[in-house]
Amino acid sequence: MPKFFKKKENKTADDKAPKARRMRFISRLRGTKDILPDEYKYWNLVIKKAAELSRSYGFRRMDTPVLENLELYERSSGRSSDIVVKEMFSFVDKNGEKIALRPEATPGIVRSYIEHGMFNLPQPVKLFWLGPVFRHDKPQAGRFRQFNQFNLENIGEASPVADAELIAITYYFFRELQLEVIIQINSVGCPSCRKDYLTKLDNFYKERGRRAKLCNDCKKRLMKNPLRLLDCKEKKCQEIAFEAPQIVDSLCEDCRNHFIKVLEYLDELNIPYNLNSTLVRGLDYYNRTVFEIWPVSAEIPAGKPADEPLRQNALGGGGRYDGLVEYMGGRPTPACGFGIGIERVILKIKEKNIPIKDEEKGDLFLAHLGDPARRKIMILFEELRKNGFKVRQAFTKDSLKGQLETANQTGVKYTLILGQKEIMDGTILIRDMESGIQEIVDYKKIVAEIEKRLGSPSKKT
Ligand code: AMP
Repeated sequence: MPKFFKKKENKTADDKAPKARRMRFISRLRGTKDILPDEYKYWNLVIKKAAELSRSYGFRRMDTPVLENLELYERSSGRSSDIVVKEMFSFVDKNGEKIALRPEATPGIVRSYIEHGMFNLPQPVKLFWLGPVFRHDKPQAGRFRQFNQFNLENIGEASPVADAELIAITYYFFRELQLEVIIQINSVGCPSCRKDYLTKLDNFYKERGRRAKLCNDCKKRLMKNPLRLLDCKEKKCQEIAFEAPQIVDSLCEDCRNHFIKVLEYLDELNIPYNLNSTLVRGLDYYNRTVFEIWPVSAEIPAGKPADEPLRQNALGGGGRYDGLVEYMGGRPTPACGFGIGIERVILKIKEKNIPIKDEEKGDLFLAHLGDPARRKIMILFEELRKNGFKVRQAFTKDSLKGQLETANQTGVKYTLILGQKEIMDGTILIRDMESGIQEIVDYKKIVAEIEKRLGSPSKKT
């Protein structure tokens, strides 16, 4: 044993000191969550599906920083939006700069599009984004203060085909995850046709004392952003909003044609949707198409406004934002996009008990008896792993019983066992974990022997 590993004989002052009191435990913040290993199979499934669909439809992955200038969100999402007014995590840093933790992805993506001159690339630029967002929401089931979104943005395309393509992708995403959803869709027009509509809306709310019945937030919205009255979460406001004039009746010809085209494409693709006249989305930058994805159980009963929990259960949402790039300092550029909340998707998958393939399950396990065998199987492990097999092991364990228990937990079909005798004979044992039958095979032919039983890893899925 090297000298510096020798045990100290003398007790130190610390050893003699009375044991310290147990430290106070610091728990996680309210509205945040840990993703533990057992849960990762859901994340892997959802992220894999998002990446696969995005790639198929020509969206390329990008990321943006969690921290951005506070002004980015104040200008884009709108100073009167709930996200900015009530939900943003913001602070002044050590240099006195006003910083925000991103409450949504689109403003950062648009900033990046302008900052990196992506307008010089062939248009449209189709981007796939996935990451955490932060909102100081009231935590409850499916509502967190840090959660993750999968976003697609199509920047530089004005055609209604782009809106329909995005909606179709969201629909396929859920269908392929075996979740039944319905698309809620509306058009909020353009700034010019919306002007007429806002006058009608204003008159409607002034009629027969409706204003007095509104919640305090809506009374303020009536002055600042009357469109937002339509998607207030309060039931009494919802009932009034349901009677309000519908924005689709006020659309200008271009906006109406755009909306009709989007719906025609959806019809063609057999994508179920519900025309929802109170859907406006909470952000200032949307124009024309807006949509949300609701679980089928959250469908609105015919002739009634949506209940608050139904609206709150949206799995995702998006729309067109043709003015945003210019408003953020870029050239006039049409665009549309959506965001889907990953935690809510996982919650739905769990609720429905949809079986999920466990990617951690291995093909075979390597067990050893004694230290010389351990050293040898550590090398064999690398060889088999490089050959593409999903190999599992418990190198740190000494007893064969303990290793076989771990092998059983990992659900492998075969365990290879190497002991002193096998090393001497140049062999290894293959144990069928179901029948318990063990065979002796030539150590040098081990890869071929495994391929005979499990197939070649390159030929497997
Ligand atoms: P939004 O941009 O607010 O429409 O959000 C898009 C999607 O993100 C929603 O449809 C939800 O799936 C998800 N989401 C929004 N807020 C939260 C939250 N506080 N916790 C978890 N998921 C959320």
